[in-house]
Amino acid sequence: MSEADFALRLVAWQRQHGRHDLPWQRTRDPYRVWLSEVMLQQTQVSTVRGYYARFLERFPTVNDLAAAPLDEVLALWAGLGYYSRARNLHACAQAVSARGGFPCDARALAELPGIGPSTARAIAAFCFGERLSIFDGNVQRVLARLLAFDQDLSGARAVKVLWTRADALVPAQAEAMPAYTQGLMDLGATVCTPRSPNCAACPVQSLCAAHAQGRVGALPRKTKTLKRRQRESWWLWLHREADGALWLQQRPARGIWAGLWTLPLFDDEAALRAAAGAAALEALPQIQHALTHLDWLLHPRRAVWNRAAAPLPEGRWVQPADWPAHGMPAPLQKLLGWVHAGP
Ligand code: SF4
Repeated sequence: MSEADFALRLVAWQRQHGRHDLPWQRTRDPYRVWLSEVMLQQTQVSTVRGYYARFLERFPTVNDLAAAPLDEVLALWAGLGYYSRARNLHACAQAVSARGGFPCDARALAELPGIGPSTARAIAAFCFGERLSIFDGNVQRVLARLLAFDQDLSGARAVKVLWTRADALVPAQAEAMPAYTQGLMDLGATVCTPRSPNCAACPVQSLCAAHAQGRVGALPRKTKTLKRRQRESWWLWLHREADGALWLQQRPARGIWAGLWTLPLFDDEAALRAAAGAAALEALPQIQHALTHLDWLLHPRRAVWNRAAAPLPEGRWVQPADWPAHGMPAPLQKLLGWVHAGP
């Protein structure tokens, strides 16, 4: 296969058939490109659109984001998941603001908090035309098929070999890098999809080794699959009748829902009952919440708390008007919506 041919075809296809209506495509501003790249990790374009617009409205520049309290960033991020991204986003904005702007090459970009090598390359290609390939999961799949790359991508060595081959495919002209990079993303998202690739509509079909060999379904090869854990927790919804306040606790800085505000969590119902004291408990519908490594079954129990003393040593009362300023995980937002809308 000719490397130049691949780049030329991909760039021509992207210009004619690729995606051009994404809000983060109308800019070469590294702040905006970085923000969109971080939000798009593990998250659908349709979900990111609204968050991206709200973030830019509240934080038009990287300095605005750096100056904001972390709690405000987490509150705006709530519902997007993978909350370590929001913490890193804030830390990275502070680092960029302190050094007076984003660096212009992938190597220096990758040294900033939360910017991995593929994101660094995306920013460098889109904003500065650096001739290096992005290499996220989508790109690995496309290239493994294109090159009929047989090695097991669960292994770091195989990934490294494929990445070197990816770098050999980039176009010779730096000006073509934004369209090429976007073309790789678009091809992986809309044509060479994981389960049912549309080879008939693929601009590089005649160059594709997996297609020629009839092995599209067998590639990429990845033997290690993610092991999911099961977990069950009880959630104590304590509600103060006088002002509608809710007792919320902040999660630790590391781990699931890091830094977010949530109802007190217990590993079993007996522990929850002990914490609620004599208050009568109402069982709300259970919630099944899926995280990357975990299927989490949550059992919410609601009680009214009318005593003057604080119900638990940790946490605080938060009135409904202040809920939006407290970043809450998606299932809690959903639960609050259910209770207020009725079953
Ligand atoms: Fe993917 Fe099919 Fe195109 Fe090959 S021909 S790159 S398998 S969509």
